[in-house]
Amino acid sequence: MSLRVYNTLSQEKELFEPVRPGKVGIYLCGPTVYKPSHIGHAVGPIIFDTIKRYLVYKGFDVTWVVNITDVDDKLIVESKAQGTTVYELADRITAGYLEAIRQLGVTSIDHLPKASEHIPEIIDMCRRLIDKGAAYVSGGDVYFDVSADTDYGKLSHRKPEEQQAGTRELASGEKRNPGDFALWKASKPDEPPEVQFDSPWGKGRPGWHIECSAMSVKYLGETFDIHGGGMDLMFPHHENEIAQSETCFDKPFAKYWLHNGLTRFNTKKISKSDQEMARKMGELTLTHLLSKHSPELLRYFIISTHYRRPIEFSDEEIAAKKKGLDTFYRLFERIERACRQDPYQDGPTLEQAFSSTENHADQSFIRECLDHQLRFLEAMDDDFNTGGAVGSLFEMATTINRFIDEWRLETEENPRGRDLAMAAVQTLRSLARILGLFDQRPPRAATTDHLVDDLMDVLIALRAEARKAKQYTLADLVRDRLKAVGISLEDRPGGTVWRRES
Ligand SMILES: [Zn+2]
Repeated sequence: MSLRVYNTLSQEKELFEPVRPGKVGIYLCGPTVYKPSHIGHAVGPIIFDTIKRYLVYKGFDVTWVVNITDVDDKLIVESKAQGTTVYELADRITAGYLEAIRQLGVTSIDHLPKASEHIPEIIDMCRRLIDKGAAYVSGGDVYFDVSADTDYGKLSHRKPEEQQAGTRELASGEKRNPGDFALWKASKPDEPPEVQFDSPWGKGRPGWHIECSAMSVKYLGETFDIHGGGMDLMFPHHENEIAQSETCFDKPFAKYWLHNGLTRFNTKKISKSDQEMARKMGELTLTHLLSKHSPELLRYFIISTHYRRPIEFSDEEIAAKKKGLDTFYRLFERIERACRQDPYQDGPTLEQAFSSTENHADQSFIRECLDHQLRFLEAMDDDFNTGGAVGSLFEMATTINRFIDEWRLETEENPRGRDLAMAAVQTLRSLARILGLFDQRPPRAATTDHLVDDLMDVLIALRAEARKAKQYTLADLVRDRLKAVGISLEDRPGGTVWRRES
């Protein structure tokens, strides 16, 4: 199977072939750290964490870089408003961002370079562009001359007359062309001293676009594989990155450009308190969302949609996704009860434990599960179609549930059937791990232990005896009292099973 990715540059799905065999470099534009992170800040990291996990699964050696923009107009304004320094604000917001994405399972970033720590690299790139005649100094500012880049606009596919729309330059110098953008901005007298850096053109600070060009070349080389970011960054930010880097090094910049859809809040479909919070903060913060929903639910919510599509966030959508996630949690509970084994502890998968088997009934179950596995991998190979991959996991869960029912594994002794079902669950988990799911037991379900199992067996046996003796009031009392504490009983052909209600 071969991986194909949609490349914004060509507007087509292309066969993925890394620049250097076996190695993949990914650069994702990170946050400007001036206000608390919202769900939009988590979308890129969750998607590219999943992409990296899949590339690693396929055997690539992957380096992933996410930059932190800690020198910017917005930081200057906000730090003044809060009566603090730019870097105190940046460090505080960065720490909150990193903690939130860590909780969301984003654990695979290799480098998190900050703009303020790469000033020499940025100045060096500006100097090279000036030497090549592609940039010029004006009033202490340095501008990139867009007329020096003959294929400017190739990523966003905009016509030259549209290119000015969307650019917003606050620098003070005179520009040669309206589309020219600042590589370096001269310091203004009222700007804090910590963002006034020495340069050959006087004191100043870098523009936003140049930091991504300078940091990506440092960590990934002049040409690398995947550049990611939200759709809103395509123009002018990514277009300008391409212009700077390709003009500076005379080499192609990123080979594949992957743009993720943006998150939309449906403000009519979120609770009053959330609407209030969103009004106060401008957006719903990640900290707030993580206090209401499990990190696994939020991650699942984001990856169940294809990354290029917009995601609508509403209470309704979250509730629907929670129901989907519960399907898997319920399967894990069933398997734990049937096998008396922790399904969150890694064990052999179907392929590892049952590579050869003579039994035909086993074979068809194994074949069905491995077929779902194949569909999962095909979906991921199709431009990281995580929504399709999640669909295959659902189908696998259905197959395993049916197998548990058919063989009455929760109520009858069948060691081989239980081993098969557990190995199937481990196959499911090994795939889910690529999506960053089901690696650990969700905290809510942490109280399941064998004593609870044993006590439930006693209660179920008592209820069965009561029914046999036609003492239905007593039998119903057992069921109703259990329901009141959040446990429901299901009468199945092989006997009664129980589950916690979510
Ligand atoms: Zn960037």
